[in-house]
Amino acid sequence: MLTVSDVSIAFGGFQALRGVSMVARPGSIVGLVGPNGSGKSTLLNIVSGIYRPDAGKVRLNDKPLPLGRIEAVAARGIGRTFQVPRLAQRLTVLQNMLVGARDQPGERLFDLFLRPGRVAAMEADALARSVAILKRLGLVEKANDYAGNLSGGQQKLLTMGVLLMSDPQVLLLDEPAAGVNPVLIEQQVEFLRSLRDEGRAIVLIEHNMEMISNVCDVVYVLDAGAVIAEGTPAEIRDNAEVIQSYLGQ
Ligand code: ADP
Ligand code: MG
Repeated sequence: MLTVSDVSIAFGGFQALRGVSMVARPGSIVGLVGPNGSGKSTLLNIVSGIYRPDAGKVRLNDKPLPLGRIEAVAARGIGRTFQVPRLAQRLTVLQNMLVGARDQPGERLFDLFLRPGRVAAMEADALARSVAILKRLGLVEKANDYAGNLSGGQQKLLTMGVLLMSDPQVLLLDEPAAGVNPVLIEQQVEFLRSLRDEGRAIVLIEHNMEMISNVCDVVYVLDAGAVIAEGTPAEIRDNAEVIQSYLGQ
């Protein structure tokens, strides 16, 4: 379980988050919504170890996360995607997946020279997992295409696949559906549900309220760096303050 407690951060004189708390349970999808500039991406930057908050704590399974240390946080099983997909455009889809594998055999010189059989086994395992994930994403036919030749929506699916190669317990997804066509959004939704059913926790930033209502168990609404509402999608829809501040109706 991911627990964010009373997190605050300022940039210069600007208070981007003020005492934000949030819980993401294993086997659930948590929505994070709010107007542009309300602090959604900043919160993911803190949870993924990119920024160190001025105050507050983030725990995974009751153990504090080493905030501000990206590698150490990732090693604890927290992975994120970015608003703009970060892929190696001139590597193939499959090569991108293999780069995402947690244990890169070549990185272990000792193994490379002294246990070549072990390296071969790890490579075979990473390859098998890549293909299995690409099948789930409907991208296996594209395995040998350059990532840069995929559509924007397919690239967003691929970033989720690359992320899954490191087998994270918690996935932080920043606007995966933005600019994606409805067919691929439906594919994303199915993929997210399957990740949830495997017992992973997912935090999903999204403007598409239909997608949020479809997949989220709980929704947090941020406004000007503070949580102004939390609840089921239905509760959020009926919340007068949310309607005022976020939907502007
Ligand atoms: P959202 O994702 O909800 O649109 P962000 O979390 O990206 O919002 O940004 C929240 C606010 O914090 C914005 O006003 C943004 O300009 C500011 N901000 C985010 N990161 C930085 C930074 N590294 N330096 C200065 N200001 C930042
Ligand atoms: Mg953002």
